[in-house]
Amino acid sequence: MAYGLMCPHCGEYTAFVPVEYRKAVQGGGNGDWQEVFLASGTIYDEHSGYTFGTSRCQACGNAFSVRFRANNTVYPDRSVVRVTLEALWPTRYKAVPSEIPSPVREAMEDASAALGAGSLIGAMLAVRTALLRAQEHQKEVLKLEKASLKALFEAGLISRFEFESGDLARRWANFLGHEEPDPGKDLSREEVEELYEYVAGLLDSIYVKPAKMERSRSKLKGETA
Ligand SMILES: [Zn+2]
Repeated sequence: MAYGLMCPHCGEYTAFVPVEYRKAVQGGGNGDWQEVFLASGTIYDEHSGYTFGTSRCQACGNAFSVRFRANNTVYPDRSVVRVTLEALWPTRYKAVPSEIPSPVREAMEDASAALGAGSLIGAMLAVRTALLRAQEHQKEVLKLEKASLKALFEAGLISRFEFESGDLARRWANFLGHEEPDPGKDLSREEVEELYEYVAGLLDSIYVKPAKMERSRSKLKGETA
């Protein structure tokens, strides 16, 4: 893994860059203007041992809140508390690749936000929506007879492995084909993450990989021309 933490806005890895904001205010007894920090990088909470802060992404420039626990053991023993650094807001499970077109991407972003916030049914329904939209989209683009995984497999967009994917597809086929999640079934976070990763993998094959291949192909053409 790259150094730093993943920006919840754009998915790039970035170092912790505290947001510091100075503003001229009128203060003191004599009414002079002076520069003060309205917000300075971090706040340490003794009770939890965490430091909270606001970081600015080096890639996209957007700010997000983070929490970290600094190494606070005595030198040279650094074994007890390791540095952790995690983005707190906006909640995001994973960044969704920009190669995935609207409105499929919006549904996946919703799923990612729901999963990041711990909404399991919300995440499941949004993942399902993303897949249904992708199937519909591909049906239209490729003039397929049906909007289904089978049709995508038969059109060569996803591999047999992805289509069958062990027990995974079968386990989820039921849910993906029905109106609502089985109310008698308790969902675990792991299951929803598994569904998310499964559909993210399918979307990678359908949209992301072909777009990347197209990019390197036109780059090659440009170099040989
Ligand atoms: Zn970013």
